[in-house]
Amino acid sequence: MFEKLKDLKTYEAGKPIELVVREFGIEPKDIIKLASNENPYGPPPKAIEKVKNLASEMHRYPDDSFFELKEGLSSKFNISASNIIIGAGSDQILEFAVHAISPKKVLMAGITFAMYEIYSKQVGAQILKTESVTHNLEEFYEIYKEQKPEIIFLCVPNNPLGECVDAKEVFDFIEKIDENTLVVVDGAYQEFAAHKDKNKEIKPEDILKYKNVLYTGTFSKAYGLGGMRVGYGIANEYIIENLHKLRPPFNITTLSLAAAIEALKDEEFVKNSIIKNFEEMEKYVSFAKENNLKYIDSYTNFIVLYIKNSTQIAENLLKKGIIVRNMASYGFEALRITIGTPEQNDKLLNTLKGMIS
Ligand SMILES: *Cc1c(COP(=O)(O)O)cnc(C)c1O
Repeated sequence: MFEKLKDLKTYEAGKPIELVVREFGIEPKDIIKLASNENPYGPPPKAIEKVKNLASEMHRYPDDSFFELKEGLSSKFNISASNIIIGAGSDQILEFAVHAISPKKVLMAGITFAMYEIYSKQVGAQILKTESVTHNLEEFYEIYKEQKPEIIFLCVPNNPLGECVDAKEVFDFIEKIDENTLVVVDGAYQEFAAHKDKNKEIKPEDILKYKNVLYTGTFSKAYGLGGMRVGYGIANEYIIENLHKLRPPFNITTLSLAAAIEALKDEEFVKNSIIKNFEEMEKYVSFAKENNLKYIDSYTNFIVLYIKNSTQIAENLLKKGIIVRNMASYGFEALRITIGTPEQNDKLLNTLKGMIS
C-alpha cells in the first residue's frame, strides 16, 4: 500500500528537552538545548505579552486571510500582500511547492535541509544532488542542463553546514534557468547572513520579477517563534495563487498569527539577538582555532565543528544535559551547535574541552 514511501525516512528532529529529562533524570532548567537553531533569548517580549492576553480567544479561528500579518510582511519587504502566502512554518510552504508541481526530478546541494528530499520523495521524485556538499552553483548548472529538474532548491545560507553563496551568484544562476523550472530560495537564516555580510542579502522584492522563483522565510529562527509554526512564501502572484490552492483553511493558529504580528513590531529584540549571536559565535571560532578543529565559516545561528568521534561526544554531552546535533548521519564527524546565550556557550565549551583533550 505504501510502496511509494519505501525509500523515505522520517525526519529526525533535534532531541527535545523532555527526552533528556526522561532518559537521564536531569532537571529541565539544567538542560542546554542547542540542537534546533532556536533563538536562545526566547520569543520577542511583545509576542509573549500578546499571546497571554489572547488566551481567551482560543475558541476562535484566526482571520484566514492573515491580513494583518501580510500587511506587516508587505511593509517589511516592500512588496504587496498578493505576493505572500502564510504557512505553518516555512516547511509547509516547501510542501505546497513540491506537491503543487509533483516533479519527476529535483536538484539540491550534496548536504542541505532534509525536508527538500522528504517532500520530493513523497511525490516520487528522483533526487539529484551536487557532489559538492556545499552550494557550488556551477555544478548545479551543469546538472540542471543535463537533467532538467522541475525544482531546484537553494538554501541561502545552508542548513546544516552554515555556508552562504553571494546574492549576486544566486541571481546570475536564476537568470540562466528556464521558466519551467521552479527555483526555491530558502531564506530561513537570511536575517543572520544579511547582518554579517551585505553581499549575502537576498531581498525578496528582487525575486518578484522572475516567473519561476519562490522565496521562503520563517519566524522560527531569528524571530524566536519556533514553537508557534509560522513561515511565509514570497513570489509573483501567479506562483502564490497556485500555492494557495494547496493551503488548508486556518493553517496557522489564532495565537501563532498574533505572535508573528507582534514579533514584526519587535525588530529591536530580533536585531539584538542577531548581534549577540555573532559576538558569541566568536567564542566557538576561537575554541576551534585553539584546539586545531576545523570549522565552517557560518552565516547563521549555528556552527559546524569537526570533532573526531562526534557520535560518542554528542552522547557524552547529552548525559550532561547538553543537546547538540551530531553530523555523523551525513557521513562526517562533526557537531552542529546552535549559538546559545553567553552562559550556555561557556558551559558547553568548557564541557567539550574536557572531552576532547
Ligand atoms: C528551520 C528551517 C526551515 C523551516 O522552519 P519552519 O520552522 O518550518 O519555518 C526551513 N529551511 C531551513 C533551511 C531551516 O533550517
